[in-house]
Amino acid sequence: MKTWIHIPKQSDFSIYNIPFGIFSSKKRKPRVGIAIGNQVLDVFAAYKLGIFKKIKIKKRVLKNNFLNDFIALGKEKTTKIREIIQQELCNENSILKENNAVFLPQNEVQMHLPIVIGDYTDFYSSMEHATNVGMMFRDPENALLPNWKHLPVGYHGRTSSIIISGKPIHRPKGQVLPPNEKHPIFKASNRVDFELEMGFIIGKSTTIGNHITTHKAEEYIFGKVLFNDWSARDIQKWEYVPLGPFLGKSFASSISPWVVTLEALEPFKVKGPIQEPEVLPYLTYEGFKNYDINLEVSIQPKNKDATVVSHSNFKYMYWNMVQQLAHHTINGCNIKVGDLMASGTISGKSTTSYGSMLELSWGGKKPLKLADGEERTFIEDYDTITMKGYCIKNDIRVGFGEVSAQILPTL
Ligand code: CA
Repeated sequence: MKTWIHIPKQSDFSIYNIPFGIFSSKKRKPRVGIAIGNQVLDVFAAYKLGIFKKIKIKKRVLKNNFLNDFIALGKEKTTKIREIIQQELCNENSILKENNAVFLPQNEVQMHLPIVIGDYTDFYSSMEHATNVGMMFRDPENALLPNWKHLPVGYHGRTSSIIISGKPIHRPKGQVLPPNEKHPIFKASNRVDFELEMGFIIGKSTTIGNHITTHKAEEYIFGKVLFNDWSARDIQKWEYVPLGPFLGKSFASSISPWVVTLEALEPFKVKGPIQEPEVLPYLTYEGFKNYDINLEVSIQPKNKDATVVSHSNFKYMYWNMVQQLAHHTINGCNIKVGDLMASGTISGKSTTSYGSMLELSWGGKKPLKLADGEERTFIEDYDTITMKGYCIKNDIRVGFGEVSAQILPTL
């Protein structure tokens, strides 16, 4: 595809991407936009120029605080809208080319939480991460629990504290059990951590009692975002038995503003890891369902340079999204447009590919060296954590931009 719009070579937002988000500017109320190069295309303004004439869309779907109504149009329409935008951006005679007002520089717009998130589920699908955490929190000899290779373990999370990239977070307080003590104390967490994850957004609802097969699961996934599932390890360690994560997780999770569609990610599909023992029939799948998405995490202390502390990849996941969705619905639990399913921390095999400080500093025992001579075991006040993700193949780049947030002192 050849476009008339200028796109820097290293841009995540190539003509092959066309991710959707919600933006506003001084003069424009929140609305649907797409990222292209360093610009945002105002999809509502493009609609007013008549480029979507052949598709029935109500004005309020595009001039909206959230993408839910847009996603609910269904893939048939949303993929068509994406294709029309691509065609217009490649057509030298496009009406968009004569109307500069449909484009705004990305640095002049405000991005918003793109989705009203109904329900949020967090999986635990990286074998390397589950093994590392099991070794530290439980038993080094039997790190993976007996169920782990038979089902994608997950828990129901909290949506109210999912926030858009750029919003700072205050260090949480809670109950912590000091080492070698029997009674907990109440204090500010000193083990605040990130979790490098990706989330997928449900694009089609089901009714209660029904389930989704691995074969059909992709029809129900609209797209993906970067996801930092903030965690307080000291709070988590004391509270998590026997029902799992609670306040050590629910204080905040940050998501990236642009939702990259599953269609844009299609060329980057790769084979997943061999699953042994064999999974039950409802979890079997055909074809490639993992994705080669390069991921990185950096820490930037206040007024210092950022240091990349982890290089990971979404392709390492043991359980893939279609298995997660098949498992999630196998009991008849319904899902709704705008639900968010997160992968769980994405760690690779090497020590530089771990997706959390818990693993990178091995429970705080091995401090990481940052540029400017600083050291970190966990996240300190005023540190900014930034996660990036992109796919690249045959010079075609499709990326997610970033999810970034700063930790502020406790309130
Ligand atoms: Ca998590």
